[in-house]
Amino acid sequence: MEITTTIVGAGVVGLAVAAELSKTHKGVLILERNPAFGQETSSRNSEVIHAGIYYDRDSKKAKLCVEGNRLLYRLCEQRRIPHRRCGKLIVATEKDEEAILATIQDRARENGVEALEMLSARQIKALEPNVKACAALFSSSTGIIHSHRLMRHYAARAYENGAQLVPHTTVSRVEKQDDARYRVHVVYPDGQTDSFASRWIVNCAGLESDRIAASMGIDIDACGYRLHYWKGEYFSLDVPRGFIRHLVYPVPQANHVGLGVHATIDLSDRVKLGPNATYLPDRTLDYTVNAQARQSFYEAACRYLPGIGVDQLHPEMTGIRPKLQKPGDPARDFIIAEESSKGFPGVINLIGIESPGLTASHAIARHVASLMAERE
Ligand SMILES: Cc1cc2nc3c(=O)[nH]c(=O)nc-3n(C[C@H](O)[C@H](O)[C@H](O)COP(=O)(O)OP(=O)(O)OC[C@H]3O[C@@H](n4cnc5c(N)ncnc54)[C@H](O)[C@@H]3O)c2cc1C
Repeated sequence: MEITTTIVGAGVVGLAVAAELSKTHKGVLILERNPAFGQETSSRNSEVIHAGIYYDRDSKKAKLCVEGNRLLYRLCEQRRIPHRRCGKLIVATEKDEEAILATIQDRARENGVEALEMLSARQIKALEPNVKACAALFSSSTGIIHSHRLMRHYAARAYENGAQLVPHTTVSRVEKQDDARYRVHVVYPDGQTDSFASRWIVNCAGLESDRIAASMGIDIDACGYRLHYWKGEYFSLDVPRGFIRHLVYPVPQANHVGLGVHATIDLSDRVKLGPNATYLPDRTLDYTVNAQARQSFYEAACRYLPGIGVDQLHPEMTGIRPKLQKPGDPARDFIIAEESSKGFPGVINLIGIESPGLTASHAIARHVASLMAERE
């Protein structure tokens, strides 16, 4: 196969991009360092189909989340990917949080999220008897998805279209050649190395995407591409089936790096609490759950789930957010850039694809295809 397009990384975004590009491009190759696709952030998240509520107006996060939400539900229905449009409550537990709910509603409407309703304490009780709140914003277009089945779908479409996924293959660097092509250097688990040429490079390497960009010769500090890792831990909540039927989120704190410890359900109705947000200054892939955090999770969740006990919380799992934001910084948008202006035509860097990257995956893939079409 003559390689025209190399996608670095087979997470949900790399796979979605492969499924989309392989419709029109021959010679699409996806390189993945792990033994199989989707073993990093794409399988370590809340599996929520976000509505697009919180993001800055006109940001890529807002646009691609709102579009991605619509595309994902359509895809799930057409291709029978397990999902549920369960809806989400953002709850105010103190009177002074009600004004914040109104601000969130305004922001969401600016982003094009219409399916929102303000609920009173009585309406909340009727909907969720175990939730205590004085008001809530109800988002009916928020849902949950089986993320592995989604990735399997993208991988199967890519494969049917002739793309090849090569696991156990780490991209060590990408080198610009003189002939408007790139030399991709790879290393295998036994230490053997290889290289090949490719016209297009789509960098979907998640937690390593800034390092891949740096290997090309891009100054990631000058461009604002350097990533910072933020660990997010989850605890499962041992409660009877049906304890909650919607996702329940607190009002987000100003400048917080996450959305606050929330309660999510999965497709088998298990409840988990999380994620919290801990900065990892040395960028280690630390996937342990600190059992000592149980008390702080309990204190965060019992504000809106007063009936739970600390003994019902059990360490569950961890994901690591690839953020462009370091401690003290404001939130940053996704970077999805064709790099001609930096002297790298044919390179598309996707950096800082944190939440809502799963929701936005299909929309991101279309966006990448349109950036490539503009250059062709
Ligand atoms: C705690 C947490 C909760 C989240 N919750 C949600 C949610 O509910 N809803 C939502 O929409 N989003 C959520 N997200 C965000 C979402 O999970 C990510 O945006 C999405 O999974 C990113 O996918 P990706 O393909 O870019 O990255 P990844 O899944 O990290 O994939 C990148 C791939 O690149 C590979 N790779 C890296 N370097 C190399 C290399 N040098 N050579 C070859 N391969 C390489 C990796 O092995 C990996 O498989 C959450 C994220 C976290 C951390």
